[in-house]
Formats: sequence, structure tokens, C-alpha cells
Amino acid sequence: MKSNLINGEWIAGTRSRPNINPSDTGDVIDEYAQADAMHVDLAVAAAQHAFAGWSMVSPQVRADALDRIGAELLARSNELGDLLAREEGKTLPEAVAEVKRAGQIFRFFAGEAVRIPGERLASVRAGVDIEVTREPIGVVGIITPWNFPIAIPAWKIAPALAYGNCVVFKPADLVPGSAWALAEIIHRSGIPAGVFNLVMGPGRIVGQSLIDDARIAAITFTGSAATGRRILEGASRRLAKAQIEMGGKNPLVVLDDADLAIAIDCAVQGSYYSTGQRCTASSRMIVQRGIHDAFVAGVRARLEALVIGDARHPTTQIGPVVDEQQLKTDLDYIRIGQSEGAELVQGGRLLERSSPGYYLEPALFIAARRDMRISREEIFGPVACVLQADDFEHALELANDTEFGLSAGICTTSLKYATHFKRHAQAGMVMVNTSTAGVDYHVPFGGRKGSSYGPREQGRYAAEFYTTAKTAYSMAG
Ligand code: NAD
Repeated sequence: MKSNLINGEWIAGTRSRPNINPSDTGDVIDEYAQADAMHVDLAVAAAQHAFAGWSMVSPQVRADALDRIGAELLARSNELGDLLAREEGKTLPEAVAEVKRAGQIFRFFAGEAVRIPGERLASVRAGVDIEVTREPIGVVGIITPWNFPIAIPAWKIAPALAYGNCVVFKPADLVPGSAWALAEIIHRSGIPAGVFNLVMGPGRIVGQSLIDDARIAAITFTGSAATGRRILEGASRRLAKAQIEMGGKNPLVVLDDADLAIAIDCAVQGSYYSTGQRCTASSRMIVQRGIHDAFVAGVRARLEALVIGDARHPTTQIGPVVDEQQLKTDLDYIRIGQSEGAELVQGGRLLERSSPGYYLEPALFIAARRDMRISREEIFGPVACVLQADDFEHALELANDTEFGLSAGICTTSLKYATHFKRHAQAGMVMVNTSTAGVDYHVPFGGRKGSSYGPREQGRYAAEFYTTAKTAYSMAG
């Protein structure tokens, strides 16, 4: 049984929940404690108490702790990657890379802890000096989704701690294993008790308690659009700062002049790897008529050859869907696509493997129209659709015809179209001749429209959310 971490102590919950391997539902990884509102109250009180010291400690102390956490994540990336693949279902190489990413993020923010920026300016009044400094905001509530069980917590926890905030972290219910392992590493890093707290449990109890707690100055959330809106409403009611990262329906535009091999690779990588369970997945492919048939044939051939199986098997390229509920959602959307009149040309069937798991053949629809639900709604599984476009302008218009705006990609050999797309795609991240889903850890991450609300995550831009500016005026004596 794995417990919650509150004020530097491992505290059992009132109940526990099994962590189940989606590649083999008979494999229970461990039991994880479930916190309730009383545990959240204790965790927030501990964080609030610890804030006075942590916010004022030498930045070197914070940098050293983050550096130790990063180094341990990197050193244990194979072991922790195995746990991640086992509980979430992404493949071993994807999972190990995610743990390494988490380690790099902690190391990046170890550096940022000693680079907290400030400015000194001349006043418009004679004899007055102005300093603009950045201060931590207080206790940060962190709520994360299941699809990146260690990288997303890392890219929220690391900047929160680097800039001098204290943390109460609630991971997704489906993936407590990676979160607990990260918490255990943070606990041993030498940070004082209460600076970082882990409370595991359901969103409607543990998450909601964080949203409603007036002692929490800021909430950072990543998850679905529906939950994001609810959290934003709750946080804004009590004027808490909020950073909300939500879903996507990311377009991949393929023009007639594209390098066909690159376009097929971007499509297969971006739409189906990590079982399509990425907020940046290119679930909407917008393909110009001239290249359409060759592109679809190429993607189909690649999908046909993909090895779908146990996430931890060395030959597996696509792991299982994360759980029964997400599998049902994927299958429902496959039926919806067919009933709407799109043509399912590849996949979409359940697969049997040697262990009981949520195995689904990656599905490709063609002849999708922009008004279909499969073209508009985030499915969050290995299900993608192709819409045809007449020319670049039509493709750009279709690409932007969405309530979301996270990532947008284009495959083209034309500098003119690539440049125009970079400028006019209504998305927070734009990709040219590369998958919509691969991002670096040292630059801003986030979207526009219905995908994101509040300041960007990651890189130096993270300071915007995790600090608050103070302007000090001094009259020379
Ligand atoms: P979800 O919204 O169901 O849950 C996210 C988190 O919110 C979980 O920890 C959950 O327990 C918690 N929660 C649920 N109800 C709550 C409530 N009432 N109050 C407080 N907390 C609550 O999302 P999910 O299914 O875990 O994740 C998948 C979604 O995440 C997809 O929509 C995906 O696009 C999105 N996502 C976005 C990004 C991004 O950076 N934009 C990255 C990864 C995933």
C-alpha cells in the first residue's frame, strides 16, 4: 500500500484503490491510498506553514534540491519508465523517454531557480528609483491528467518549487504509481517538510477541495476541456490564479508538394503513437486532393504493419488504451464516424492478446466532413480522420475551423506556404514537416482558444504563472 505525503509524513488514506495494468488487467501494480477532504486540509495547512521558510530560502538551496531530483529521475529512467509503461500503457521507449524528460525539466528549473529575473528602471519622477521583482505566489494546487503521468507533474512541480512556492499535488486516479515514485524522490531531496505534499484520490473530492480552499493561491490544471472549465469557474469565484491546459483537435495539413514519406511519418507518429492519447495528437488530417490517395495508401500500409501489444514487450509499437472507459469512448466514436458517413478504411477492431488488456487496432477514417463529430470532438485514442482540401487556403481554413488551438502541423516543401501557415495557424504550437506531438522542454507549451487558459507552461515563460510581479519605488534620501 502506498500512502499520501503530508507535511513530510506518509499518511494512509481512508480507503485505497488498485492501480491496474491496462496491458494485463489481472496485474495489480499496488494499492494507493485515497485522500479525503480532511487530508487535503492537512496538506494545505502544511504547505501554507512551510511557505514562510521556503519562499525566503537561498535560491541555491532550491536549485540543489531540484538538481538532486532531476539527477535521480535520469539515473532511474529505465526502472521508472517500466512502472509508467505498466500503469499507463505507453510503450517502454516512450515511457523511458518521458521519465528522462521529467529529469531534464527538474534540471532546467534547478538552473532557473538561480536566474529569477528582475529589473531596475528610472522613474519618471526625479530622485525616484524603481525595482520590479518577481515573488512566489504561495501554495499552488496541482491537478494532472493520466496521459503523461510523470512529465506533466514535473513541468508543474519543478517551476513551482524553483520560484519558491509550496505544492499540494493531486495526480490522476488512473496513474498514481509514477506520481508516488516522484513524490518519494522529492521527499528524499532534502526539501523541508510541507513544501511538497501528495494527495491521491478522486477529482470530485480531492480536486474539488483544492479548488475551494482559500489558502491555495493558484491552481494549475491539465486535463479535459469539461473539467478545465469547471475548475476555472471555481478558481475565479474566489479570485485564485488559474492555469488551465485542456484538449486539442490538432490538424495536420498535407499539401500536394509535401515529401510523401515525411507526411506519412508525421501522420502515423502524431496520430497513433502513445495510442493517440496525447493532447497534441494530430487527430484531424487535412489533405490536398492531389496527394490524398497516395497519402492514405501510405498511412494504411504503415498502420497495417504496426505491432500492437503489451506496452512493455520490446517489439510493441502501440500499447493498449488506458482503461475500459476510454476504450468505450474510442469505440463509440468509431461507430459515430460510421453513422455520420465517414469511411472507416483501416482498423477499429478490438484485438486479443495473450493477456487481457484494452487493445484496439488504430483506426483511420477518410471522407470526413468538417461538421462531423469525429472531426470536431477530441476522442483521445488511436482514431483519426482525413478531410480533403482543394488548395492551401482551403486547408488553412479547415485547420482553423475548431474550438481548440493547441498544436497545428503542415507538411509542405514550399517556404511560402510553411511561412504563411506558421503565421496564420490559430494554435499555440506550429510544426512544419514534423509531428504535431513532439515538443522540447525548455520552450513555452500551451495553446489558444478552447485548449488553454492563462499563462504558458515550461521554459522561462513558466515564471509568469508561478511568480507575481512587485514594483518597488524608493526616493533617494
Ligand atoms: P480529466 O479532466 O478527466 O482529469 C484531469 C484531472 O482532473 C484528474 O486528476 C482528475 O481526477 C481531476 N478532476 C476531475 N474532476 C475534477 C473536479 N471536479 N475538480 C477537480 N479536479 C477534477 O482529464 P484526463 O482524462 O485525466 O486527461 C485527458 C485530457 O487531458 C485530454 O482532454 C487531453 O487533451 C488533456 N491533456 C491536455 C494537455 C495540455 O497540456 N493541453 C496535456 C495532456 C493532456
